[in-house]
Amino acid sequence: MSDILILNGRLIDPSNQIDAPRDLLLRNGRVVAIETPGALGSVEVAQTIDASGLIVAPGLVDIHVHLREPGQTYKETIATGTAAAAAGGYTSVVAMPNTLPVNDTVAKLEWMLDAQRGSLVKLFAMPAATVGSMGEKLTDFEALRQAGAVGFTDDGKPILEDEMMHAALIAAARAEVPVSQHAEDTRLTGGCSMNAGSMAFRLGLRGMPVEAEARIVERDIQLLRDIERTEGLRPHLHVQHVSTARAIHAIRLAKREDLHVTCEIAPHHFALNEEAVGDYDTHTKMNPPLRSELDRIKMIEALLDGTADCIATDHAPHAAFEKKQEFERAPNGITGLETALGLALRVLHRENSLPLPRIVDLMSTAPARIVSLAGRGTLGPDHFADIVIFDAGTEWTFTAEASRSKSRNTPFDGSPMLGQVRYTICEGKIVYQA
Ligand SMILES: [Zn+2]
Repeated sequence: MSDILILNGRLIDPSNQIDAPRDLLLRNGRVVAIETPGALGSVEVAQTIDASGLIVAPGLVDIHVHLREPGQTYKETIATGTAAAAAGGYTSVVAMPNTLPVNDTVAKLEWMLDAQRGSLVKLFAMPAATVGSMGEKLTDFEALRQAGAVGFTDDGKPILEDEMMHAALIAAARAEVPVSQHAEDTRLTGGCSMNAGSMAFRLGLRGMPVEAEARIVERDIQLLRDIERTEGLRPHLHVQHVSTARAIHAIRLAKREDLHVTCEIAPHHFALNEEAVGDYDTHTKMNPPLRSELDRIKMIEALLDGTADCIATDHAPHAAFEKKQEFERAPNGITGLETALGLALRVLHRENSLPLPRIVDLMSTAPARIVSLAGRGTLGPDHFADIVIFDAGTEWTFTAEASRSKSRNTPFDGSPMLGQVRYTICEGKIVYQA
């Protein structure tokens, strides 16, 4: 018997507008009952969790992670990356395709999703939009969709050519999934390693201008408009890791126009600005880069006013030897699965008064909806028993050393966090317990 009873917690389920004390009964990987405290009576179960003083919410969903398998398992494996996810409260993650080889065929997708890879949480994937992410030829969207693709992206690289992005949006609209765009006009960012600004000037580094992000977002929005008008389709553009005021402004206007645009913001873009680069700290090097303080504030505003649909980590592990070299040579990316909730609670909830149900929405319900994960990001009866139980008040210090990830490339080593994950339950199975 694998039944679990969760008693006396504060259930926060934005999809059902619930923020109230509830008891939950989980059976065979599903939620079978949600009742006011005591109403379940005496049920015989294998395990009872006393969630007094704790938040019970649908498990977190991260639609942007790099798990490095196949090909770079010295950085991370599906098993270690998803162990980090579980520790961070995540029950579903979406793996990006820039593995070695690039995930661009049904065979590779199936290999990644195979249970033998040892994923601890529910694993989904977005295959490449173009073969090898080379931007020259679309992958087989229909076949990949049938095999489980939840979207398409060339993440790490933009889909740069207008015609190719146009074709990708049309094919994705037919397959009823989003195109997830890494918005970077690489014609403007060659040889750049941080944000263009006074900090880059001081450090003598070439900086990426904000236009590099904004121009691609603006171009993609124009493509949506064109396709709606001429093809009678309604393509879904998802903008990854938005980092600039100008790009979020373009997205805000596109939403008012009722175009189907969603976007994500990474925790480091609302928690840090370019000053964190300090003395060439390669643990602050990622793409898009940390931006100005004004951009950071605009990201928080977008999360508060709903322009930003969700939080995604862009978890991007790298080995120590790769980050321990000159700033310009070090690879882009930081780990993020175990610090996302602690940063969201500290920066958004405590410092900017974002209510807890909105945090749960940004980290679970909304991302699950963006990639259409049926029965996840929500806790109605008969939905998957994907649950995170956390306390929202404990202050603690994250240390890279304690990470489940294979890599330690985080700028948040020694940083204060708010709120600790106590249990992560994926399809009725406890996959993490503090
Ligand atoms: Zn990216």
